[in-house]
Amino acid sequence: MTGKEKEKEEEMTIPQIEEIEEEKETEYDPEPEPEPVEGSEQDIEELPGIGPKTAEKLKEAGYGALMNIATASASEIAAVADVGEGTASKAIMAARGALHMGYETGLQALENRKKILKLTTGSKELDKLLGGGLETCSITECYGAFGSAKTQIAHQLAVNAQLPIDEGGLNGAVLYIDTEHTFRPERIMEMCNAKGLDHKKILANIHVGRAYNSDHQILLADKAKDIMKEKNIKLVIVDSLMSHFRADYIGRGSLAGRQQKLNQHLHVLQKLADTYNALVYITNQVMSKPDMLFGDPTAAVGGHVLHHAATFRIYLRKSKGDTRICKLVDSPNLPDGETVLRITPDGVIDR
Ligand code: ATP
Ligand code: MG
Repeated sequence: MTGKEKEKEEEMTIPQIEEIEEEKETEYDPEPEPEPVEGSEQDIEELPGIGPKTAEKLKEAGYGALMNIATASASEIAAVADVGEGTASKAIMAARGALHMGYETGLQALENRKKILKLTTGSKELDKLLGGGLETCSITECYGAFGSAKTQIAHQLAVNAQLPIDEGGLNGAVLYIDTEHTFRPERIMEMCNAKGLDHKKILANIHVGRAYNSDHQILLADKAKDIMKEKNIKLVIVDSLMSHFRADYIGRGSLAGRQQKLNQHLHVLQKLADTYNALVYITNQVMSKPDMLFGDPTAAVGGHVLHHAATFRIYLRKSKGDTRICKLVDSPNLPDGETVLRITPDGVIDR
């Protein structure tokens, strides 16, 4: 049995568990100036109950900015700073107050949306479908069968994210959590050559973490906040999100535990997106639903936890030759729709 066939067989056996869930020349800036994170100018020492020593502990643990504290839970802060939960809660409330994190009017929300950046996928048609490209401050999930180009798009985004903003990039670096060991620097080189970019500069700004199991994957995401600002990370890729979770939690009994861990992991990713105005791109596997009589019997794995966490969901299907059908399945403000793109040696392009 070949690898792909085995994979296919696995896809067919795990569904039962899943169902129970019910639930050109480009100007390139090699070392872009890091954007200040909101609230980082104010020192966390000014928070009530946080003295210089506690502040030091917090900074060492990656909670050096007000935003890190404002978005943390009391138990999290209590554990890293070695203070009581009461003190931690007061500090969190004060940080939220300083950052004006209460209610906002629709007008303010509209103003806040202006900071959102859009990243080009390489295909103008897909960008159009996405309302201008993939958005920062959100999680985009891309799912599809093997060979549907989820990883190819991840590579393309890792290149595109480094382009200047007026060229559809994010002018930032990339964090790549690779769980299937499919990150290929050679592929990045190929894509850079097509765009006339210096592949050494591009590769130097892609920070790859190989995850060996789901706990390691969670740890890599937790540690990301330590380098997000320093390295000016604007794109976080997790390829693929579920493979380790599916392998590590087998059987019905472990499903609740898996979903709980997955939920926390997704919250950490969403927080990275919000705090650093970054884009999170996750890829996901599919399963077949044997009970489906009509329509496409393919569905993404991960259950409701994942489906609710992703702001945009793209479903990829193989089509003739190097073409792929992309379907926008779920978006808060855009109509669902479909488009076709091509995966070529140069990367992702329009048909
Ligand atoms: P999996 O679920 O197995 O991870 P995937 O959706 O991530 O699958 P990819 O690895 O992104 O799939 O896509 C692989 C496909 O991309 C290949 O089958 C091939 O068609 C295309 N491809 C890969 N490398 C190149 C290249 N250098 N030039 C052109 N096409 C390529
Ligand atoms: Mg892949």
